[in-house]
Amino acid sequence: MGVLLQQWAALAATLPQRVLGLVGWLAAMALLFGVLERLRPVRSQRFLRSDLGVDLAYYFLSGIVPAFVVAAATVAVSWVVSGWVPARFMAAVAQLPLALRVALLIVIGDAAYYWAHRASHALPWLWRFHRIHHSPTELDWLVNTRAHPVDLMVARVVPLVPLLVFGLRQPGLRDMETVAALYLTLTTVWAFFVHANVRVRLGPLEHVVTSPAFHHWHHHHEAGVPRDCNFASLLPVLDRVFGTWHLPRDRLPSVYGAADPLPPTLAGQLLSPFRAPPR
Ligand SMILES: [Zn+2]
Ligand SMILES: [Zn+2]
Repeated sequence: MGVLLQQWAALAATLPQRVLGLVGWLAAMALLFGVLERLRPVRSQRFLRSDLGVDLAYYFLSGIVPAFVVAAATVAVSWVVSGWVPARFMAAVAQLPLALRVALLIVIGDAAYYWAHRASHALPWLWRFHRIHHSPTELDWLVNTRAHPVDLMVARVVPLVPLLVFGLRQPGLRDMETVAALYLTLTTVWAFFVHANVRVRLGPLEHVVTSPAFHHWHHHHEAGVPRDCNFASLLPVLDRVFGTWHLPRDRLPSVYGAADPLPPTLAGQLLSPFRAPPR
């Protein structure tokens, strides 16, 4: 507990720098995706849309809250791992070639995310939180950040647990901490990209890595098309293996959103999971 309080105090002390960093990131992402969305839009949408303010609030919440939750989860899971996973196993993982450890981190991390995300659709009490992410009827890059803190917690903590248990994140493995930081940065930028209002198809690469078309179908609300599809963050092969892949070659969804409407304000949306009936 003492370790966690120290980490939280350190995080709290760096909050001003963190907020400044988030402002910088926001400017960079707005520039990059703002230009892309003007050059090749899926459909013409207003940049200054009505719920822009709410999504900006979600952006800052998403940039601050998970760090505290992930620190708590890391301390708790590491404590369990140190008691239950043999030190010899951890040492053996540390000896594996870096390339293999990186591949394992990506596959195990994304597989865990896939199941956490699929559970967020399948379990009514998790859907109450996740449906906020599915509420927009128009997609753009900033919709990526629209997520309830509880939803974010599930998405961040579930992949972290197997990585700690399998020794791919462990004290002393400095190279893996660098890899994990790069992986988080890459998946964050990619998550903005796959939500963007851009008409970009990646050809054969769409079998290897997720794309805007892939994730736009995850947000579709078309009648007659399977509703729960394309859960992976980075590796679409997971959806192929588990039977949830849906990616027409020649078209994008015509309707986005979720059935149940949400309150328009941030406070109303954050409280809605505790009030609304499950789907
Ligand atoms: Zn979803
Ligand atoms: Zn999404």
